[in-house]
Amino acid sequence: MGRSHSRTILMSPSGKPFDQEKAWELSQEDRLILVCGRYEGVDERVRLHCVDEEISIGDYVLTGGELPAMVVVETVARLLPGVLGDENSVVEESFSNHLLEYPQYTRPRDFKGHKVPEVLVSGDPKKIQDWQRKEALKKTAQVRPDLLKKTELSDQDRVDLKELNIG
Ligand code: SAM
Repeated sequence: MGRSHSRTILMSPSGKPFDQEKAWELSQEDRLILVCGRYEGVDERVRLHCVDEEISIGDYVLTGGELPAMVVVETVARLLPGVLGDENSVVEESFSNHLLEYPQYTRPRDFKGHKVPEVLVSGDPKKIQDWQRKEALKKTAQVRPDLLKKTELSDQDRVDLKELNIG
């Protein structure tokens, strides 16, 4: 029986920031070994000789690596085929192509006078898609403009951003 490859990752506040791109990369591995520290962390020789890389889940310090490891497990596992009902949902959500997701609406159509945008009930798939793209650009530009530097922008996207006065 062939041995599958394992990638060993040290959970550490001084690791490279964990993001969706890294999650996609890790989802291709056969096995992941996540090493969790406590107290001062782990002996430097572990960091230098026993792990492939260090990952941080954010610029803050937790007491132990267990919760960061669970964050990695949950993020990677939902990218594996068969884990989610609808495989397309992971392609459209936040951080795909470095954009935050457009706003979601459900029933009722009118909630205490707050209506679902007309375009979403128009039944016109092209108009809906254009609206979703524009809203994703708008939200990203307002909340995470840093992401837009990596986004593949179409000519229409640039026009939209200019129109929104955030391009
Ligand atoms: N002395 C370490 C430092 O200043 O970088 C902090 C050690 S922390 C109290 C104990 C363990 O929690 C770390 O070894 C690591 O496994 C985990 N940990 C804490 N914050 C983390 C973060 N933001 N990302 C990943 N792991 C973290």
